[in-house]
Amino acid sequence: MRSKVIAGNWKMNKGLSEAEQFADSVKGNLPKDDNVEAIVCAPFPFLPALVSKAKSSNLKVGAQNMHFEDSGAYTGEVSPAMLKDLGVTHVVIGHSERREHFAETDESVNKKVHAAFNHGLVPIVCVGETLEQREANETMSHIENQVRKGLEGLTDEQIGRVIIAYEPIWAIGTGKSASSADANQVCTFVRNVVKAMTSENIAEQLVVQYGGSVKPANIDELLDQPDIDGALVGGASLEPGSFLELVEAGT
Ligand code: PGA
Repeated sequence: MRSKVIAGNWKMNKGLSEAEQFADSVKGNLPKDDNVEAIVCAPFPFLPALVSKAKSSNLKVGAQNMHFEDSGAYTGEVSPAMLKDLGVTHVVIGHSERREHFAETDESVNKKVHAAFNHGLVPIVCVGETLEQREANETMSHIENQVRKGLEGLTDEQIGRVIIAYEPIWAIGTGKSASSADANQVCTFVRNVVKAMTSENIAEQLVVQYGGSVKPANIDELLDQPDIDGALVGGASLEPGSFLELVEAGT
């Protein structure tokens, strides 16, 4: 049985004291259930405080991006080793906002996924189609391309440990989630692409999240779908109460 993984993506929000308050209110109230994982992916400046607050709790801390190189002349960048050193466990890679605003490509995504594994971080790899691609019936070919290129060169064992977040771009931050059936259809497809790349066994281990306007009101029906193993949540992950409800839904 795959665990449910609920990851909050705060994007560029909150201040340090708010981030600390969030961890304080959430950490003691998370369900004591090994079948659900709760991760908060926060801006870089909050990571040390969050890791320290989350110590000996079920809350895990992730980053929202990183560079693929270990060190060097890359002004403004953060390396996987730095994240690992802080005690960060997960890293979001290839979010559509990074692809759109920061020229992230399938090639850089692939390099970052390799770098994450080289440093013992779990990558949450984002894939998703635009509204134009959906309307032109290009969703599946686009997703297949992103999954294959993003995971290129990994061992089967590594692929089994990747988290893939299917996030249709038209559903992100719009309040308009994909229907649970449509979301599940693409998550099943992702699993099948991974099966073709590896084996049935590995594909069955793969955690596939849905993301895009997930909130307490719609998470139950999304998680009821057979191929949706969790959620990557932006807006509704910012408030401790709402984040806890989302995690609770995974139990
Ligand atoms: P949203 O964002 O939940 O606010 O739609 C999801 C995401 O961008 O990961």
